[in-house]
Amino acid sequence: MKIIGVTGTKDTGKTTLVEKIVEKLTGEGYRVATLKHTHTGFDFPGKDTDKHRRAGAEIVAGSGRETFFLLEREMDLEEIAGTLEILDDLDFLIVEGFKEMEYASISTSTPGEFTVKVVDPFSLEDVDELIDLIKKRSYGLLQNLNCKKCGFSSCREFREAKIRGEADDIDCRSQPERVLLRIDGKPVPLNPFVQEFISKTVRGMIDALETESLKNGRVDLIIK
Ligand code: SF4
Repeated sequence: MKIIGVTGTKDTGKTTLVEKIVEKLTGEGYRVATLKHTHTGFDFPGKDTDKHRRAGAEIVAGSGRETFFLLEREMDLEEIAGTLEILDDLDFLIVEGFKEMEYASISTSTPGEFTVKVVDPFSLEDVDELIDLIKKRSYGLLQNLNCKKCGFSSCREFREAKIRGEADDIDCRSQPERVLLRIDGKPVPLNPFVQEFISKTVRGMIDALETESLKNGRVDLIIK
């Protein structure tokens, strides 16, 4: 899933631009998610779910024609994107309003590279051109291992080249992670050696317990 940001000062057309991008990408058959960053909350005062939350529920889920989850804490972009990847098989995540992000982004107010200077009014040609740029210059979550497998000497170098349009798509996360470590909900990159070490240590400990033998099953270990 590739991530693309839309940033800009107030009333410069961020949401309109997001709408256009989503319409265009979904029209081409891509599966798209959006994420809106805001400094205010998303609670719905007086609703039953709001009462659940105020009573102390840590996560409130609403299920009906739509489903939503309300967590009483802020998640960062990587955590949200990682969660979306687990939930569904998506092609693009369009992010509105995250200023500090290491992904390709389009500014509706600051001229610069990969920036749309004129977003209002739109012409179809503008959006088509933009969609081509998005496909070419955006990328998804990286493992942040600086492993050089992509041909760049660091993840940062890959990011910069990709945003300039000078790098091909890579399958940075093609190797399924054997060990996923999250500290306070935030994923921590682990190189293959450390993953192997943790996996073998924990599995060895479990084997020593008088419990059903563990073959290739998944182990969840939560330390609080
Ligand atoms: S393959 Fe992924 S983790 Fe390795 S250097 Fe490239 S971007 Fe970083």
